[in-house]
Amino acid sequence: MRVVVLGSGTSMGVPVLGCTCDVCTSSDPKDKRSRVAAIVDGGDGGRILVDTPPELRLQLLAADVAAVDAVLFTHDHADHVHGIDDLRVISQRNGELSLYGPSDVLDRLVRRFDYIFDPAVVAPEGTYKPKLRPSPLTAGEPVKIAGIDVLPIALSHGVMTVYGYRFGSFAYLTDVKTVTDDAIAALAGVRVLVINALFERSHPTHLSIPEAIDVARAIGAEQTFLTHLTHRYSHEDLSKRLPDGIEPAYDGLTLTV
Ligand SMILES: [Zn+2]
Ligand SMILES: [Zn+2]
Ligand SMILES: [Zn+2]
Repeated sequence: MRVVVLGSGTSMGVPVLGCTCDVCTSSDPKDKRSRVAAIVDGGDGGRILVDTPPELRLQLLAADVAAVDAVLFTHDHADHVHGIDDLRVISQRNGELSLYGPSDVLDRLVRRFDYIFDPAVVAPEGTYKPKLRPSPLTAGEPVKIAGIDVLPIALSHGVMTVYGYRFGSFAYLTDVKTVTDDAIAALAGVRVLVINALFERSHPTHLSIPEAIDVARAIGAEQTFLTHLTHRYSHEDLSKRLPDGIEPAYDGLTLTV
């Protein structure tokens, strides 16, 4: 299985508009962090996209990915969904795409993007709208999507519940604040982990960097990559601060699991 981290930045992205800090003005390409998404490629044709952030088109071009077979949503915050219209060209070419995620998240997407989901909205001749089919998942129930084993895991993001996803020995968890013992048990045996981490200090809706390290250790992953990163640390600086086996993710990071 091949995983590509398409974006590794927090909700405002890095550089932050108008910020002149050392990280926002860095020339290191690894300090350019677009909003988070990932591709999970099963190897024999099946390819899953996780989330549709605002930079989706640019991210897919950079990763040389022209099509995906399904989309998983972690949750519906703007930084994870506002590139949804970039699925239009994929569904126009390859037919209807299934969108998976928590049922309440999919319900809100249907309301927010009514031009996509309301059958009464018909695209004028010669124009297209995305052809997307919401398919709710139940936490804890494994499913096969595009030939890839997927386990949705419910996690807290402050007051909201998000889904993290396990794909065999790889897991992708973002916008998580706490991970219950049950979730840790469901993640036992994961060898490669991508997990969100914000600041050194505590945050009400996201794991801090020390908390993310604790979760990675509790899961026992051999390799962990921190994502949803802010402009607080450069890639180089954060790499030095992290313990062995834990590294910052960056846009374009490709993992073979
Ligand atoms: Zn987010
Ligand atoms: Zn900055
Ligand atoms: Zn969020």
